[in-house]
Amino acid sequence: MTFEPKRVFFEKDALEYEMGKRLYKIFRDKNIEVSELKSHNRVTEIPGNTPQQAYFEGKNTLVVGVRHTLKFQSCKPSAHYQLPLVTSCMGMCTYCYLNTQLGKKPYIRVYVNIDEILNQAEHYIKERKDEITLFEGAATSDPIPTEPYTGALRQAIEFFGRQENGRFRFVTKFTEVDSLLDAKHNDHTTIRFSINAAPVIQQYEHRTPGMLERIEASYKIIRSGYQIGFIIAPVLLYDGWEKDYSIMISELAKELGDFKDNKIHFEIISHRFTAKAKNNINEIFPNNNLPMNEEERKFKYGQFGYGKYIYNKEQLDNMKSFFIDRLKKVFSNCEIDYII
Ligand code: SF4
Repeated sequence: MTFEPKRVFFEKDALEYEMGKRLYKIFRDKNIEVSELKSHNRVTEIPGNTPQQAYFEGKNTLVVGVRHTLKFQSCKPSAHYQLPLVTSCMGMCTYCYLNTQLGKKPYIRVYVNIDEILNQAEHYIKERKDEITLFEGAATSDPIPTEPYTGALRQAIEFFGRQENGRFRFVTKFTEVDSLLDAKHNDHTTIRFSINAAPVIQQYEHRTPGMLERIEASYKIIRSGYQIGFIIAPVLLYDGWEKDYSIMISELAKELGDFKDNKIHFEIISHRFTAKAKNNINEIFPNNNLPMNEEERKFKYGQFGYGKYIYNKEQLDNMKSFFIDRLKKVFSNCEIDYII
């Protein structure tokens, strides 16, 4: 599933970089509409008057820019810093965690000054001296769909491979991993796959690869010596969920073969929503059937002053024992980092 943008905008100074020039040629040769942005950092030419049009047109737009802010955001508690490689993603998942963060036109942005970004990462690593510094490459994006064009992830993986005290990780729902397989990662990068039961992917994770394709991609990655993990999220507790998630777990075990006894990390997150996310989802996907009935959920106050609707205790306890039981049985050395 390759990302084919409908239009690509270039910031003027992006064309001074080798990657900028290369991308310009690639998209011109593909006959994709290419133009220069009139003003830096303001993307005003994406069409779309209704919330749906704005969202869909945004998701089909690529902006090639220069990352000027080289102060990295922190990424607690999972990593020390976010590594800014890409923002947004071509996927159109109904419940995407980025939906409330990226504005009405969530265009995809890549950065051509990857060398400067990695130099800055090195600076942060040195600052912490002998301690390991961990960078997260998917805090504001799924970085795989643009990788066949930019090669930025591969460059980052090889950079961290050379860093004694730098480590890298990212998560993806996508499968274009072939260019990463022979990268010199030196066991310093962990690649996590976000997976779900097949019917959930089919209904809610639009424009992303299916369950089996993701599982196949994870096999290629583990076979190439990377550490891998799986995020099973969001878990939806509908009638028959146990059967669908059991199929997912056995397909995973089947595909990973002997590698299933590696130390594989699992993170499991039950479905939850905030009032803001619900409004946003209903605006963009007016016909969605995502279960978001407040009366069927428990309200939990969040740390930033807004609350979320989660499953009740009994449902969550049931879900927790289901996953602990199944995963431990099949993946003998797995680590379940958390189930929430
Ligand atoms: Fe969001 Fe991930 Fe889906 Fe992309 S693949 S839309 S980042 S949830």
